[in-house]
Amino acid sequence: MTHYRHLFFDLDNTIWDFNRNSRDALMGCFPVFGLELSLFEEFFRIYNLHNDALWELYRRNGISKEDLSKARFNLTLEEMGISGIDGRELNQAYLAGMPLQTRLCEGAMEVLAPLACKYQLHIITNGFSEVQYKKLGHSGLAPFFSKVFVSEEIKAPKPAPEIFRHALKSCNARKRESLMIGDSWEVDILGAMNAGIDQIHYAPDLPDASFTPAESESLHKNRTLTRRIQKLTDLIPLLL
Ligand SMILES: [Mg+2]
Repeated sequence: MTHYRHLFFDLDNTIWDFNRNSRDALMGCFPVFGLELSLFEEFFRIYNLHNDALWELYRRNGISKEDLSKARFNLTLEEMGISGIDGRELNQAYLAGMPLQTRLCEGAMEVLAPLACKYQLHIITNGFSEVQYKKLGHSGLAPFFSKVFVSEEIKAPKPAPEIFRHALKSCNARKRESLMIGDSWEVDILGAMNAGIDQIHYAPDLPDASFTPAESESLHKNRTLTRRIQKLTDLIPLLL
C-alpha cells in the first residue's frame, strides 16, 4: 500500500476525539448555565439524538446552519423539560469551548509524525470552518497537514463526490496516489469509494476488522481498495 503520495484524513473521531471532547465541552457549560450535573448523562444522550438527526438533515440540504445551531439545544431543553435557558446561548457557549478541547484519538500523534515524513497529509472534514480550524490549531494537529478541506467552504459535505474531487484537484493528486482514512463507513469510505479513491476504514468500536456481507457486496462492485483497521497504529505496518 506504499504507492500513495497523498493521505486524506477525516478529522472528527478519526484523529480528533470528538466524542470525548464534545462531552467535556458540554459538561463545562453546565455550571455556567446553572444546570444540575446529575442531569448531564440524560441531557447528552438526548442532545446527540437531535444533533445527529439535524446533521443528517443539513447534509441533505434540509436545514440551514443557523436553524441547526438553534434547534439542537432548544429541542433537547424542551424534551428535558428545562425552561429559562436560551438554546442559542447554550449553543454559543458549547461551540466556544468545544474546539478548544485537545483530546486526540488513541495513537494519532504516534502515526501522524512518521506518516508526515513520507506522505503529504490532508484533512477532508464535514463541519463548520471556524470550528474545524480551531480544533486543528489547539490540539497541535495543524502542522502535520498541508491542506484542509472543510465541507462548509466547499459547499458539498462528504459523501458527495464533489468534495473529494475538489480535494484531489487542489492537491494536484491523482486518484491512484490517494488514500482516504476515516471512521464513518457511509461518509468517508463510501464517499471516497464513489469518487474512485482507495480507503482505510478506522473502526475502533467494531468487534473485529472483517466486513459484513452487505459491506462485502459494495466492495465487490467497486474497483477501489478498502481495508479496515481497529487501531490507528495499524497504519504503520500498512503504510511505512
Ligand atoms: Mg469522523
